Amino acid sequence: MFLVPPILTMQKLCLIKLGGSVLTDTTKPNTPKIEEIMRLAREIRSTSRVILGHGSGSFGHVTAHKYKVQDGLKNANSMKGAAMTQNVAAKLHRIVVDELVKAGVSAFSFPPSAGAIARNGRIVRWDISALEEALDKGFLPVTCGDVVVDLTKGVTIASTEEVFRHIAQKLRPARIIVGGDTDGVFTANPKVHKNAKLIERIDGSNIANALRSAGASLKVDVTGGMRSKVAYLYDMSRKFGVECRIINATVPGRVRDALAGRRVRGTIIRA
Ligand code: ADP
Repeated sequence: MFLVPPILTMQKLCLIKLGGSVLTDTTKPNTPKIEEIMRLAREIRSTSRVILGHGSGSFGHVTAHKYKVQDGLKNANSMKGAAMTQNVAAKLHRIVVDELVKAGVSAFSFPPSAGAIARNGRIVRWDISALEEALDKGFLPVTCGDVVVDLTKGVTIASTEEVFRHIAQKLRPARIIVGGDTDGVFTANPKVHKNAKLIERIDGSNIANALRSAGASLKVDVTGGMRSKVAYLYDMSRKFGVECRIINATVPGRVRDALAGRRVRGTIIRA
């Protein structure tokens, strides 16, 4: 029988997301930023009891948007679009896992499309006991935003945040880190408003304002940009007591430091 070192299962669990905007060139369809993926793989290398999720960037979002996959199965075209989106999302997923393994990480792939079932856009069933076992054995489970079969719509796009919501409900992580291409949540979109100020902390006293400030992504996006992230993270913090951080994963060292529990520039969400 395989014996799990007790120290592994005692450590607190952290979920980390790397946004599609960090891993791909969002101005060109299906273009990975290999150097960035390699750097992030090295930053993640020395952590344990972490589950990594990643977005789809210019891989899934462009195809999903073109075929309106988020609206479900409406005709033969949406069927074709769903298949194409699942295929391109899987391609980026393999690239990420590939770079992790090359960097020496014991990555283990768990794409939600292989097991999750949604109802009206929300994952309602996904047996993640294999993921949990892999985690306990010391692997780094890797999941992603994906196309998922849906009981009401036929198919849906499950964002990485939705995938994390399901995992968090089952595994109760201590922390969730979301790495994107801004330093956190700002008073307005910092890509447009250069004078926007970083909101360092979101809690019950300012969540309504923060949701008003957080808007859509500037690129093709089918999962709701910063607004949806804030809503998801606040909800997870409220329901599961998990501390959530939004940080800038494009700045070298930030992901490594945040995983190590060091203070980095960003937004903390704690309901
Ligand atoms: P990812 O691809 O990393 O998951 P998204 O592109 O979906 O992230 O969402 C992040 C984007 O949201 C930012 O690049 C920015 O353009 C946009 N955004 C809109 N409002 C805000 C805000 N108030 N603060 C930060 N980013 C914002």
